[in-house]
Amino acid sequence: MIIGDIADSLTRSIERTSDAISEAFFEPTIRIGVTGLSRAGKTVFITSLVANMIDRARMPGLMANAQGRILTAYLQPQPDDAVPRFDYETHLGALTGPTPHWPASTRAVSQLRLSLRVQPGGLLGGLQGPRTIHLDIVDYPGEWLLDLELLDLTYTQWVEKTLGRIANRSQAATYLTLAASRDAAAGFDETTARDLATSFAAYLNAAREDGFSDCTPGRFLLPGELAGSPVLTFAPLAKPATTPRRSLWREMERRFEAYKSQVVKPFFRDHFAKIDRQIVLVDALGAIHAGPPAMDDLRRAMADILSAFRPGRNAFLTKLFLGKRVEKILFVATKADHLHHKQHPRLTAIIEALVSEAKGRADYAGADTSAMSIAALRATVEETLQHSGKDLDCVRGTLADGRQAAFYPGELPEDPQRLLHPARDGAESWLDADYQVMNFAPAALSLKPGEGPPHIRLDKVAQFLIGDKL
Ligand code: GDP
Repeated sequence: MIIGDIADSLTRSIERTSDAISEAFFEPTIRIGVTGLSRAGKTVFITSLVANMIDRARMPGLMANAQGRILTAYLQPQPDDAVPRFDYETHLGALTGPTPHWPASTRAVSQLRLSLRVQPGGLLGGLQGPRTIHLDIVDYPGEWLLDLELLDLTYTQWVEKTLGRIANRSQAATYLTLAASRDAAAGFDETTARDLATSFAAYLNAAREDGFSDCTPGRFLLPGELAGSPVLTFAPLAKPATTPRRSLWREMERRFEAYKSQVVKPFFRDHFAKIDRQIVLVDALGAIHAGPPAMDDLRRAMADILSAFRPGRNAFLTKLFLGKRVEKILFVATKADHLHHKQHPRLTAIIEALVSEAKGRADYAGADTSAMSIAALRATVEETLQHSGKDLDCVRGTLADGRQAAFYPGELPEDPQRLLHPARDGAESWLDADYQVMNFAPAALSLKPGEGPPHIRLDKVAQFLIGDKL
């Protein structure tokens, strides 16, 4: 190497090091994970949060904003070139355009970088110039988190567990009949594998529709670009007496292992392990409406989700995290605009009870957790109607066909255990109450300059997630 080259490469490496140092010191990056089971409200949440961070008139609960220290917020290209970008503009267009409608939901992982210019606060704040803080928002399906459990299981163990769990589920009857009709010791052929995988995926989708959340492998529900590939073309088959080489069973076992190493592990390595702060969205109102079995299932899913964040959860994650851990986890009940604000504390009490139970079940001790109820996009206004001589606190919104309707969702109990107990005890329906949800369309908006879309408590969410870093 000639001297010029050496000098050149030295300068470059110094440049790179100082870039890294300046980024770490002066331009901190906070990676915020946004997850929740499908339809929990992730897409609407990210879109409205970002719009409200860019135009902050509706964000008084974010302290740095109330103090006038956030000078500007803008989108930037994200640093991870291989991760799809969260399609913010299209989603915002859907929500705030001339004919507002709900955007297409999360199907896979995506990411968006929002950068803030912030004037530091505190005693020395006035002496320093503004600095830039990057928020990398990572959207991923909660179903993928539940796959973590698979890493602890061999194919044989997974098959036993899965077949045990689904034996009495009506949604699985077709799959179980098909699996029983196939000889797992016979030679492998792709058509049989595909039929089994398709039928098993149909079971998972039906179970998910009916409110079950223990529906792994998660990619069978949201396959994305992996649809039809061998890593998604397997299913649980009871182990036959002999498992010759090239048999159907052996190939299923191989594909299960490939799913673990080529699908589950990369997700945890490339996305999950880098998250600093996490928000988990929960459609608690939807589960309450669906009845006690769905509520009970939600309880279990929350414990499973939380256990993915438990330090030392398994050897693979421990190695990935290298002692780093998620610092804060916020659980939020979404779509609170279905309720009059007088009922919000009750919804919050329910989500708090669910979180504290999940912590107990997952034997969780780690990050700071909190719970609240929010609406990422407020689609209703409040209205009090007279009914049988009594005040009835309702909300009014626009239906899909454009008509306006007032809606009374039912009264949530003051004590969350009135819902959690029957759910735990296996009740089929709520005894003394009926809870409704309504699919309101987003309201047509006329935003003043500086105003983001209307919401409930998104500013409190932002304060919990990033307030201490501003
Ligand atoms: P994802 O699957 O988690 O990405 O869920 P989405 O963000 O697509 O939300 C699913 C559906 O929930 C939407 O299509 C809306 O019908 C509803 N939704 C989500 N957020 C809100 C909200 O803040 N208010 C109301 N009224 N509905 C919401």
